[in-house]
Amino acid sequence: MKVIDNIDVLKSELEKRRRVALVPTMGNIHEGHLSLVRQAKKYVDTVVCTVFVNKLQFNERADFLNYPRTIDDDLKKLEMNKTDIVFLPTGELMYPCEQEYFIEVPEYISKCLEGQFRGPFFSRVATVVMKFFFLIKPDIAVFGKKDFQQAFMIKKLCIQFSTQCTILLGETIRDFDGLALSSRNSHLSSSERAKANQMYRTLVNIKEKILKNNELEHFNLKFLSQLEDTGKDKLNNEGWECEYIKVINKDLFREPICPKTEWRQLIVLAAARLGGTRLIDNIEIV
Ligand code: AMP
Repeated sequence: MKVIDNIDVLKSELEKRRRVALVPTMGNIHEGHLSLVRQAKKYVDTVVCTVFVNKLQFNERADFLNYPRTIDDDLKKLEMNKTDIVFLPTGELMYPCEQEYFIEVPEYISKCLEGQFRGPFFSRVATVVMKFFFLIKPDIAVFGKKDFQQAFMIKKLCIQFSTQCTILLGETIRDFDGLALSSRNSHLSSSERAKANQMYRTLVNIKEKILKNNELEHFNLKFLSQLEDTGKDKLNNEGWECEYIKVINKDLFREPICPKTEWRQLIVLAAARLGGTRLIDNIEIV
């Protein structure tokens, strides 16, 4: 495995390679990231994993500074999982001067759900991902469904900018109790960790209700909105601060118009804070 922190070296290394897959990460590598590397490896001979904590996409300075950085451990895990190249740029390498140009993400994606709570997050993520695409020119890039809104945005971005890169999505990898693996889980205290799967349990509960009711007369927008409200109340009563629970059509990224005909396309997304830690998760109905 080559560890590269220089653009010229990266380019000359990539010139020797045939088909390349990109797996972008912010490090603190866990099984979720590694599953994306393994998925990528099935399709190409060279997997490039980037480890870059992109300051520009953080809303709060403290969140950026406290983001877990575990590079020695990360490199060991990536090597064991047959990553070919790790690109480890510094902030100065990615942003040699003040970044003035950003990709504009349509508002129906950028202003809802995560976009309501994270400022220009999607525009900043789109911009850094495009930078990686220009530098690495991957044939394939793999993103996790764990960050569904981000994955949806990137899929569209790639098509609309004619990147010629195929986007693959990886399933969410979970801990033994259902909690989605996330670098931010390391911020949880042991008592918070013990109850952190409550968000996933709430999503499972909503999914079960959708599967049970989708053929019945009352399966309409009002019914879905009641499920969302009950889920939010449940989390809040369990000591969380729920930011949203929302059922949408995952193919169109909008509220379903006719839940009865769209139920197979539904996804339930949630974000909530447990103590100082903000967690997100989602579950597909089918
Ligand atoms: P991050 O380092 O958190 O920015 O994540 C890098 C990539 O890993 C993104 O495409 C995430 O969606 C994906 N990812 C994060 N957590 C998981 C997980 N538990 N399962 C699968 N993919 C994940």
